[in-house]
Amino acid sequence: MAVKITADLRAIQSQEEAAAAAPTSIQYQARRVRRPQNIEGDFFVDHTCIDCDTCRWMAPQVFTRIGDMSAVFKQPTSGEERLKALQALLSCPTSSIHTEKPASDILQVQKTFPSPIDQQRIPGVKYNYRQSQIHR
Ligand code: SF4
Repeated sequence: MAVKITADLRAIQSQEEAAAAAPTSIQYQARRVRRPQNIEGDFFVDHTCIDCDTCRWMAPQVFTRIGDMSAVFKQPTSGEERLKALQALLSCPTSSIHTEKPASDILQVQKTFPSPIDQQRIPGVKYNYRQSQIHR
């Protein structure tokens, strides 16, 4: 019985410590604003980026690493670049990529998944943002 109470107390203590360390909702929302490192324009990355590299891999024409997070260094100027940027937006695990204007074409872009990773080097291998897994 004493062992169970001790374990419960430890669980409560670790939950309290996690809550104390976690940003509050207000703090988190404050970080969801445009990083100043982004170039001006529609697409931008906010301060919640965890530097996972997904957007830079998916749309290297648009995203780069500045500091310890991603940023938009060039706004998409073609249909292909916009498609890749929106695929990256949908794939970002922290939803840190945004557009200033609502993307009216986002539903069409959702339908492009699973999308090929690299047809030249690994033909037939596809990426699906919803399940975060590779399809063959
Ligand atoms: S996909 Fe999202 S979390 Fe990952 S590097 Fe890009 S902006 Fe950051």
